[in-house]
Amino acid sequence: MELISYGRHDVSEEDINLVTEVLRSGNLTMGSFVDQFERQLANFTRTAAAIAVSSGTAALHCAYSTINLRGKEVITSPMTFVATASTAVLQGANIKFCDVEAATGNINPDEIGSLITSKTAVVTSVAYAGNPVDIKRIKTAVKDKDILVIDDASHALGSKLSGKMVGEEADLTIFSFFPTKNITSGEGGAVVSNNLELLSKARSFKMHGLVREKSKLRNLSEGDWHQEVHNFGLNYRLSDIHAALGLSQLMKIDEFKSIRNNIFNFYTKTLSPIAEISLPSRTPGSDPFWHLFPIRVPKDTRKKLFDYLRDKGIIVQVNYIPVYLHPVFEDLGYKKGLCPNAEDFYEREISLPLHTKLNKSNLEYITECLHKFFK
Ligand SMILES: *Cc1c(COP(=O)(O)O)cnc(C)c1O
Repeated sequence: MELISYGRHDVSEEDINLVTEVLRSGNLTMGSFVDQFERQLANFTRTAAAIAVSSGTAALHCAYSTINLRGKEVITSPMTFVATASTAVLQGANIKFCDVEAATGNINPDEIGSLITSKTAVVTSVAYAGNPVDIKRIKTAVKDKDILVIDDASHALGSKLSGKMVGEEADLTIFSFFPTKNITSGEGGAVVSNNLELLSKARSFKMHGLVREKSKLRNLSEGDWHQEVHNFGLNYRLSDIHAALGLSQLMKIDEFKSIRNNIFNFYTKTLSPIAEISLPSRTPGSDPFWHLFPIRVPKDTRKKLFDYLRDKGIIVQVNYIPVYLHPVFEDLGYKKGLCPNAEDFYEREISLPLHTKLNKSNLEYITECLHKFFK
């Protein structure tokens, strides 16, 4: 039986040629491909600048490093991959999970206000499945308080809301280029922003907090070899090998978006007659790059349907168990019942295969199987 994969990269000969160019060149890292990739990402997201890093997780860690989080609180969505919260915990923050909108799975801006305290330093939203978060509503919820808005847009490179690219509205926006994401660099991620001061702090964290510019050095008696560390940081650099793949992929993002959105539309049309299935819904005024196709079914059928589809050779996933139900958060005292909408969403959710390599017969087979199951 042919297995239908759930998510898959789409690497072309041009991608391979550009990566090969790096391998034949003088720089494998810290070279011009990283610079070009950063410039093109900023260009594409219509932001002032971008920094390329080694993963989406590294991008989140860099974003959180721009302010002091020790003893502070971060409000975020539980409907995400654990890294959205765990990187903030590693920076010393306590996490306040905010429930999601039942329809979209995105953080509910109306519930943020009641979670804000004098310790709140950040609100991190997650553009679940590629459907953009209404950042303006989040900014309204935090009002004029000194609270940073970070958008985990790992699913949403290329999505738009009210004519704005994802990346334009939040203080810092992060992306992931893991192979299943909208474009890939193998492993990789980025932080984009219109705030160059914040971004330069994130850039410093990406490279050990190293200072090389003569004008900024504290110790002037050393020779030309001298460099200084002014803040603690890590090595989260992306290599030029990865950057070349990302750069080449970014050139094709409009094509990827249209293929995936056509599949999204096919699923929507073909599955809408099935009463037991709730289809994904979008933020009003949005133009998503759909990263996932999350359906919801009655709780008592979810596991049966999951096993049935996997038996039929259709690889499906569940996105996501609410983050606070991971044992690492349970050990900190978080309990079931905290975010009822997120828990209900999780208990009913299955993500269908969605990637550019799915062909018409794959899609017909998948939707026929769903129709058979619910007959
Ligand atoms: C993929 C993903 C991440 C982590 O990205 P990596 O590149 O795998 O480190 C973080 N948040 C969300 C929502 C993701 O989907």
